[in-house]
Amino acid sequence: MSHSPLATISVPANGNNYTYGRPNGGITKITVHHMAGVLSAERCGQIFQNPNRHGSSHYGIGLDGEIATYVEEENTAWTDSNWDSNIHSVTIENSNCDTGGDWPVSDATFDSLVKLVADIAKRNGLGTLVAGKNLTWHSMYAATSCPGNYLRDRMNEIAEKANAINSQAPQPTPTPTPTPSTGFNVGDAVTLKNWVDYNGTPLRQTRDFYYISQINGDRAVLCADSVDGAVYCAANTNNLAKVGDAPAPAPAPKAFEIGDRVLPINWVDFTGTPLRQTRDYYFISQLAGNRAVLRADDANDGPIYAAVNTDNLRLV
Ligand SMILES: [Zn+2]
Repeated sequence: MSHSPLATISVPANGNNYTYGRPNGGITKITVHHMAGVLSAERCGQIFQNPNRHGSSHYGIGLDGEIATYVEEENTAWTDSNWDSNIHSVTIENSNCDTGGDWPVSDATFDSLVKLVADIAKRNGLGTLVAGKNLTWHSMYAATSCPGNYLRDRMNEIAEKANAINSQAPQPTPTPTPTPSTGFNVGDAVTLKNWVDYNGTPLRQTRDFYYISQINGDRAVLCADSVDGAVYCAANTNNLAKVGDAPAPAPAPKAFEIGDRVLPINWVDFTGTPLRQTRDYYFISQLAGNRAVLRADDANDGPIYAAVNTDNLRLV
């Protein structure tokens, strides 16, 4: 069930008056008709509710511009007096505002027609409308005066106005110019590498660190105590160093050497087996990675005491 949201009333055609589905077809165009009379959209629809009418359309637009749906777009309305045209078309009956002559329609009807044509084209992916191609009229397919000179002479105008509606694309969202990352963000706690401001004017340090309250390009405004604190200075981000996230200085590796006097911190050997203390200290006699062999009395030829993890040793 699909029809234009512009339709404000639904007057379903009798099932005798159209074909379910679009056998061997599919929507590729719109066909414009006139009612050859002055009717409301509802009244036109009532005609198609007559089971012996043998005719229908998808939509009707009344004298007052009201749009009605009669046949859902996925079904084939019998409007164009031409089967091959019907299976490819969404059809619109338009009330005249006078009978005979050029069969004029009211401005209200015409305005609704333009909007409905635009909506049908958009929802069905018909692309740019071209009169005589995907915006068609009844007399292209059958020996009829429908839709009358008035509408037929304005088919280009209908196409242009409908295309204009559909080309009103939403305003493109301006793409923000990417700001080169400085690596700093508002809220960062920083200190200065050199105690000068953005213009190079010397500064006197008043805090251990400051907070970035604004960043604009390479210019950062620093505040004391908090992001909302008193402004301290504007500084070049190239002259800032973050506080608190610098890599913690790696603990100095315990640079043990053969011959060092050491004691285990915990009395376990390299494999975790408990040790019994037998000396006030031991000598490292071998080192291999974090494995140190300890000897008693002498690093070179004292009795081997244990192998110990160097992480578990301290110098004495
Ligand atoms: Zn017609």
